[in-house]
Amino acid sequence: MRYEAPTTTKAAAGLLAEEKGDAYILAGGTDLLVRMKMDMIEPDLIVDIKHIPAMQSIKASAAGATIGAAVSGAQLGAHKGLIKMWPGVVEATNLIGSDQVQGRCTMVGNLCNASPAADSVPAMIAAGAKAVIVGSKKRRTVAVEKIVTGPGQTSLAKDEVIESITLPKRPTKSGDAYLRFTPRTEMDIAVVSAGINVTLERGVIKTARVVLGAVAPTAVLVPKAAKAIIGTKLDDAALEKLAEACSEACNPIDDKRGTIEYRTKVAGVLAVRAAKIAFKRAGGA
Ligand SMILES: Cc1cc2nc3c(=O)[nH]c(=O)nc-3n(C[C@H](O)[C@H](O)[C@H](O)COP(=O)(O)OP(=O)(O)OC[C@H]3O[C@@H](n4cnc5c(N)ncnc54)[C@H](O)[C@@H]3O)c2cc1C
Repeated sequence: MRYEAPTTTKAAAGLLAEEKGDAYILAGGTDLLVRMKMDMIEPDLIVDIKHIPAMQSIKASAAGATIGAAVSGAQLGAHKGLIKMWPGVVEATNLIGSDQVQGRCTMVGNLCNASPAADSVPAMIAAGAKAVIVGSKKRRTVAVEKIVTGPGQTSLAKDEVIESITLPKRPTKSGDAYLRFTPRTEMDIAVVSAGINVTLERGVIKTARVVLGAVAPTAVLVPKAAKAIIGTKLDDAALEKLAEACSEACNPIDDKRGTIEYRTKVAGVLAVRAAKIAFKRAGGA
């Protein structure tokens, strides 16, 4: 196995393009190294992206935010400007693993590992996040919801690497939130999760994005749930419709951690709770 640590994204994409065998990007390694240790994969080439300056910074301004693909969960959680603008995105990423895992793990690694239960993904999709992708020949920007195509599968080509995640401009009266349900309080993965982002106008919800995790092969954007709360102040009738739309959108697995009925019910409950938090953060009353 060959190990390379390029210093530009273009060089990383070039290495992926040239490799004839199995090549993998290494960010924090908290998924990749586990899969290697368990003999699930045997890479011929590992491309470590932690030495690429363009992937190491967080830029947050009134115009939006750019988070480098090698930025760790711990770095994200220490960025006051980002927490103010996108508390839901930061709290979702900070739920990944333990302090040790936070020191290494990245949002982009969480996305590209393509687990249906990945914590940062519903929050990123709710935020309207985009992935900046660099290939050996071209660069493209894609909505985060278009990256994961199924468990363990992404739409990235062999020579493509995600350089950063961008988050849009934040109107003043806006808020997001992410909640997950796990049987244990720590070190467990979501049985159900919900990410919600709202903006308000004169105290009423003007735009909303509602996303569920761990209830289908990929995170699910639920426009019907957003429609249920747009134009409202989150009254009981709106919350009931939100919960119904979320439960309807579920297509979960049935396993020892949660039955289909349980996950379907909890999706609605979590979405209601997350919506209330997002609404309050946006200044709603
Ligand atoms: C003890 C433990 C607890 C965990 N708890 C949680 C949890 O609570 N919630 C949760 O969601 N996950 C959890 N995880 C899984 C893991 O920590 C996360 O998915 C993490 O965000 C992965 O990030 P990473 O940077 O370590 O990715 P890596 O392991 O480096 O990479 C993961 C995958 O993404 C690819 N990749 C990485 N970066 C890029 C890029 N820039 N472009 C293209 N492909 C890329 C890699 O090739 C690999 O296939 C846990 C893992 C452990 C070991």
